[in-house]
Amino acid sequence: MNATNTFDFIIVGAGSAGCVLANHLSADRRFTVLLIEAGKMSHPLTPVPISFSRFIDNPKVNWCYGSEPEPVMAQRSIPVPRGRMLGGSSAINGLVYVRGQPLDYNNWAQLGNRGWSFDDVLPIFQRMENYEPGADEWRRQGGPLHVSEVADQNPLYDALIAAGEEIGLPNNPDYNGADQTGLCKTQTTIRGGKRMSTAVAYLEPARSRPNLTIATEALAHRLTLNGKRCTGISYAVDGRTIDAQARVEVILCCGSINSPQLLELSGIGQPALLKSQGIEVCHGLPGVGESLRDHIAPRMGWTISKRGVTFNDRARGLGLLWQVARYAIKRDGFLSLPSAPLVAFIKTHADLVSPDAQLHLVPYAFSPTTRRLLDEPGMTITVYQLRPESLGSIHIKSTDPHEAPAIRFNFLSNPLDRQTLVDAVRFTRRLMQAPAMDQFRGIEFKPGPDVQSDDEIIEWIGKTAETAYHPIGTCRMGNDENAVVNNQLQVHGIEGLRIADGSIMPTLVSGNTNAACIMIGEKAADMILAEQR
Ligand SMILES: Cc1cc2nc3c(=O)[nH]c(=O)nc-3n(C[C@H](O)[C@H](O)[C@H](O)COP(=O)(O)OP(=O)(O)OC[C@H]3O[C@@H](n4cnc5c(N)ncnc54)[C@H](O)[C@@H]3O)c2cc1C
Repeated sequence: MNATNTFDFIIVGAGSAGCVLANHLSADRRFTVLLIEAGKMSHPLTPVPISFSRFIDNPKVNWCYGSEPEPVMAQRSIPVPRGRMLGGSSAINGLVYVRGQPLDYNNWAQLGNRGWSFDDVLPIFQRMENYEPGADEWRRQGGPLHVSEVADQNPLYDALIAAGEEIGLPNNPDYNGADQTGLCKTQTTIRGGKRMSTAVAYLEPARSRPNLTIATEALAHRLTLNGKRCTGISYAVDGRTIDAQARVEVILCCGSINSPQLLELSGIGQPALLKSQGIEVCHGLPGVGESLRDHIAPRMGWTISKRGVTFNDRARGLGLLWQVARYAIKRDGFLSLPSAPLVAFIKTHADLVSPDAQLHLVPYAFSPTTRRLLDEPGMTITVYQLRPESLGSIHIKSTDPHEAPAIRFNFLSNPLDRQTLVDAVRFTRRLMQAPAMDQFRGIEFKPGPDVQSDDEIIEWIGKTAETAYHPIGTCRMGNDENAVVNNQLQVHGIEGLRIADGSIMPTLVSGNTNAACIMIGEKAADMILAEQR
């Protein structure tokens, strides 16, 4: 910390996007940068890919939020895990790497966000990656983020890929390339068997720079504002309040739950809501906390009739010891896997121009409550609609920055979302019924043969589904009256304040969201540095 506690840039949140910004802004030695992170530096298990299953409900590294009771989801509170350490959610996530489809970004541009079309963002996706299988028209090598393909071999994977081909779903060699459609080995943010969070890919190389200060276990309480200009941040470490000033600007990278929370705590948001909490309104901005979307993701389950192919057989008891030894020696096996070794991007109707649903295919079955492997061999397929329309919100319930905001997803409130999920569940059943799966397929136990009609499928989803952990949109980019940031990611009506994280996405990208969040961090850094030139 410098004597005056004044920095050129203050970045709040060291997650997927925040670490990228910390690297690029501090690479220019003219600038001093403060990076504030509520969580700890790291956790000893973070490098081990399978740690995602241990972190999913671990409050040491996870904010462990939950939604308000969801109306169509049997009034359940849906878990909302978010990473809380350097690397943010990229340090606890499932490591699946997906860019999304060109139409996602072209749609963002079509909504009025100049500079965000696929042609605009493709060079950024390219420069940020080091794609292990090799460069081509779509992919690049040499970037900071290592992207590899799952190396694990299993006859079950071969059968699933063959089953896809039998029902017209090709084995796509690169779903981040020319066409997303198909079933294939997953691309992952794993290098040599170890997790590549943005803390590893971006922050580690920058940490020793004298112009970068990193404050961990530092919870931002509110922005400091002078009229309509953001001048800094007030945060707390060990119960001590610290004020830091930003000469140029503050960049919020707290993610889709905490960025809108921090705006509201600072008096930026819906005037009536702020007043109801006793917060003075500094700037009325009705879209703060609105436009929430996520992937609701039911998990289907089958028993597997052949022994020795699922990790229910291979990673329990002595088998687990063997897997631990394999990982320690060769960095492969069960512990080196992402949350899904195979993914599929499917069209629920043949006349669609691009996929509208995604499957995560997992060679084991686990208990939804204990998250432990079941005794019997089984497999899981998680299913979600790529571009849901149902909109929710996130708003503070209190002026205490430690208290979780109210998260309302309103899942399945849109009829298209319900129909697409029903069709995706039926598609997945067709895949599992294909002849190539005959030697492996046992019985479907989730949802099970009694669940057949549309209403029965929706009821089962409502009673059991969780999300794929991809909330976005709560500080949405755009030009309309409910937009929070403009296409330069500057907060409408406030100077010296930008937001760069998943919350700015106008709509959900077609797939897992980490790659898009990193791209947002990269693009924000480009814009900020271009202004300073
Ligand atoms: C369990 C899980 C599994 C996932 N699996 C995948 C996957 O396999 N593939 C994929 O592509 N995506 C996955 N995702 C989603 C992806 O990881 C996120 O979309 C992405 O990491 C979000 O990036 P972000 O920059 O918006 O926020 P985050 O990475 O969440 O970063 C926000 C940071 O801000 C900090 N912060 C918040 N509030 C404050 C405050 N007040 N003061 C100081 N610091 C604060 C947080 O602690 C955190 O470090 C998963 C997410 C989760 C949670």
